Amino acid sequence: MTSKGTILVIEDQEQNLYLMQYMLEANGYGVQLARDGEQGIRVAQEQRPDMILLDIQLPTMSGHEVARVLRSKPDLVDVPIVAVTSYAMPGDREEVMAAGCTGYIEKPINPDTFIGEMEQHMGATHDASNGLPRGAGGGGA
Ligand code: MN
Repeated sequence: MTSKGTILVIEDQEQNLYLMQYMLEANGYGVQLARDGEQGIRVAQEQRPDMILLDIQLPTMSGHEVARVLRSKPDLVDVPIVAVTSYAMPGDREEVMAAGCTGYIEKPINPDTFIGEMEQHMGATHDASNGLPRGAGGGGA
């Protein structure tokens, strides 16, 4: 079966999880689901998805922690990670990007625009030289 790619969705709310699964499958994507960060990291390492959609408010590990762990894995450095979060304060986007995310989609999920927003991030990679602040200067993180 051909697929446009496999998307790992890390999300603890069933309603959001199934909404994203439904929209992704209806648009030709394969979907893997994880309900917390530990499971998401494990699935990401085993399955090497083409993109990760990451809730930020997760049990046990926050999405920020999950993104940092994923970015520390050599196999996963190039996988787009898109935060899906209701955080809407000005500094929140910067915090999400600093944790290693490629992009950001705001909740509540809008079924009319979600796939389009997601696809804008497909093929994008996290690149600290691409308009993102490098943090304190001086080499290694
Ligand atoms: Mn959540």
